[in-house]
Amino acid sequence: MDKRLPPLADKATRLARNRRFRALGIPYKACGRCFAVKPLSAFKRHTRYGHQSWCKACQRETKSTYSKETEYTKRNTKRRERFATDPEFREGEGKRVKEYRARRVAATIEDFTTADLHALWLEEGFLTLVTGGFLCVYCGREKAQHDDHIQPLSKGGEHSRANLAPACARCNGRKWAKDPVEWVATHVLTRGPNVT
Ligand SMILES: [Zn+2]
Ligand SMILES: [Zn+2]
Repeated sequence: MDKRLPPLADKATRLARNRRFRALGIPYKACGRCFAVKPLSAFKRHTRYGHQSWCKACQRETKSTYSKETEYTKRNTKRRERFATDPEFREGEGKRVKEYRARRVAATIEDFTTADLHALWLEEGFLTLVTGGFLCVYCGREKAQHDDHIQPLSKGGEHSRANLAPACARCNGRKWAKDPVEWVATHVLTRGPNVT
């Protein structure tokens, strides 16, 4: 660390100091930007964590924080719009996110599209609804809203078509509330002729 910086520039030291202030009921706090120790009234309230880490003066000085935030919001809004209107973008993003989750637990990842997945489900005899979409394989009653990993990724399951099944939100949630492996073992996947 640069020798010219005050000791409180070190985040761990500063946070320890602030914790100590709090523990002793001393209404002061070290700012995370200018590192000055100021009374709590010099900091804006934070909804959940007491006070914000930068003092009001520092916040005023960095108006750019605000514009950065609006920039981010704008980008986010654009993405949402595209997500709602562009099916190709939606498909790509969904695939990206699912693969990212699978990579995080070092699961084997198969390269497939939603169309590939649905084709296999039809081949395997998963039930479809007249109104479109698949029936939940676990309860056989609700419309499926999720692609459920039968063997969870966290338990060594693959992110592959063979390990995915259509599940409703309720069953998907219930499955996670229990031991997923045990849950699957006690639930026979619903298969049969398509509902017409
Ligand atoms: Zn400050
Ligand atoms: Zn269900």
